[in-house]
Amino acid sequence: MPDTELCIVGGGPAGLVAGLLFARAGVKTLVLERHGDFLRDFRGDTVHPSTLRIFAELGLLDALLSRPHDRADQFGARIAGRSVRVADFRHLKVPAPFIALMPQWDFLDFVAEAARPYPGFTLRQSCEATALIEEDGVVRGVRTADGEAVRATLTLACDGRGSRFRGGLPSTTVGSPMDVFWFRLPKTAEPQNQSMGVFDAGRIFVLIDRGAYWQCASVFPKGMADQIRAEGLDAFRARVRAVGPETAGVDQALRSWDEVKLLSVSVDRLERWHRPGLLVLGDAAHAMSPIGGVGINLAIQDAVAAANILAAPMAASVDVGPLLHKVQARRMMPAKRTQALQRLIQNRIIAPTLAASRPMTTPPLAIRLLDSVPLLRRIPARVLGMGFRPERVRSPEAS
Ligand SMILES: Cc1cc2nc3c(=O)[nH]c(=O)nc-3n(C[C@H](O)[C@H](O)[C@H](O)COP(=O)(O)OP(=O)(O)OC[C@H]3O[C@@H](n4cnc5c(N)ncnc54)[C@H](O)[C@@H]3O)c2cc1C
Repeated sequence: MPDTELCIVGGGPAGLVAGLLFARAGVKTLVLERHGDFLRDFRGDTVHPSTLRIFAELGLLDALLSRPHDRADQFGARIAGRSVRVADFRHLKVPAPFIALMPQWDFLDFVAEAARPYPGFTLRQSCEATALIEEDGVVRGVRTADGEAVRATLTLACDGRGSRFRGGLPSTTVGSPMDVFWFRLPKTAEPQNQSMGVFDAGRIFVLIDRGAYWQCASVFPKGMADQIRAEGLDAFRARVRAVGPETAGVDQALRSWDEVKLLSVSVDRLERWHRPGLLVLGDAAHAMSPIGGVGINLAIQDAVAAANILAAPMAASVDVGPLLHKVQARRMMPAKRTQALQRLIQNRIIAPTLAASRPMTTPPLAIRLLDSVPLLRRIPARVLGMGFRPERVRSPEAS
């Protein structure tokens, strides 16, 4: 007899939204999260319009937006020293036509709170799944670090890009030419809501406005982290200072390399997301590049699609084994297309910019066009804000 109908490994965006939706549909759901809290700084912050629409459909949008956040209804960049507008979300026909910049720990905490009232929902934190329980080739749950066996009818692996439960499933590596140093800087200029990318020869720098401080990403060619560290913290601080007035506080903020986290970017995907008793979702199925800040949103869309296809039959105790392939069939296309777009941007923009030695004199023509023709800015807004095949909530709410 299983302990739970659904066991979800990983309380990230994919795992918690899946937990909320399956429990809402009346499925007994257990989420295992190895950390004791959601406080991990390396996670992205962007909740896109397509995801906000999902929360509107669940009747949770106002509550979500009552949590501290910033809104970006346009997205800009500074290229070759010139500020340009790249995307304008204000024309999207959705309840919230903007990107909500909300620290991911607040967002995850909100989703967990929204799920808790459902009687079938349990979240166990500080609980690490260490192995699958397999019988006759069928996954029957997981074993935890303290030796407990959690038996489940279906296991969802939502354990992120380092997933240990996707082993054995065939995968494709897309690759990435970059890694990222990730750190905070104090705001020294006027308070403003201007998250942006800064592009110049040999430099890509992203500033995410987190209200009281800047969350910064310094992008550099893959594998160069040791060399940059060997050049010394002073040299690194000088590079950061050169970004612009926003980074003037770098000398006080970065006292040692301990304050600079290395994020190794990997882009890959599984060619098969399921096997009997197991379904893989989110980054575990397709690790995304940070380009566009789409990973959270794709992970959530996977969770919505999985619940749309599986939750009602599971709540009715129907064997969902024959339906698992439908989740992959629905979500593979958006994952593939998004990664193809990210690869194009990596190859056409990121890699040449990082390799360039002569200063840029002007933004590329396509960017100048976006900047000068407002109608054109709706196109990147649509692709970025809604993604490919945005999901709607179709899974039921149990009475
Ligand atoms: C530098 C960087 C910046 C990014 N910025 C953005 C951004 O701005 N916007 C955006 O949308 N995306 C961004 N992303 C991508 C985004 O963080 C991921 O795509 C997204 O978090 C994936 O969600 P997930 O639920 O699939 O996995 P994760 O968020 O990785 O969650 C997996 C969870 O599983 C838990 N876990 C792992 N193993 C176990 C285990 N064995 N037992 C129990 N629990 C386990 C982990 O602790 C974690 O909480 C960024 C990525 C990087 C690298």
